[in-house]
Amino acid sequence: MTKKPATLPKSSARAAATAKKSARTFSPLGSAVVAEKLREVPEAVYARLNQAAAPLTAYDLIDSVQKKLNRRLHPPTIYRALSQLVERGLIHRLESGSSYIACASPGEPHHSILFLCNQCGSADEAVDNRVHALLQEDAKRRGFAAESEVIEVRGRCAKCRKTN
Ligand SMILES: [Zn+2]
Ligand SMILES: [Zn+2]
Repeated sequence: MTKKPATLPKSSARAAATAKKSARTFSPLGSAVVAEKLREVPEAVYARLNQAAAPLTAYDLIDSVQKKLNRRLHPPTIYRALSQLVERGLIHRLESGSSYIACASPGEPHHSILFLCNQCGSADEAVDNRVHALLQEDAKRRGFAAESEVIEVRGRCAKCRKTN
């Protein structure tokens, strides 16, 4: 009667190690390609928003980004790119209408007030921490933890007021 080996025979152990090793050496290359593909969508979305004079929705963006990258994109891909850009402080999401604008001073921590024109649809971002400081004070007095960071003011812009 032969004793069963407690450990794997040397040859198969080596084979397993080799398999592991090759899988490991393969994956960085694969993930770099995937990362490159993942990056190009946010980049294209950001470029499009930077050109836009008015806020754009995910559906406004999907057509032009698809054309630019020359491939079909699913809405979740666009939404993922948008939330990445919001997290990085490069764009702002409007509370109303779920549309997005490129930030006027990206990369710097700031509070903004968005002036939105009802007539031409333009969005103008003012960086102003004073109103936010007042809101924080009021919230604090109520024991309220404020999370929203964008204030929106709707009306008519200077251009539209001049022409009418
Ligand atoms: Zn901003
Ligand atoms: Zn206007």
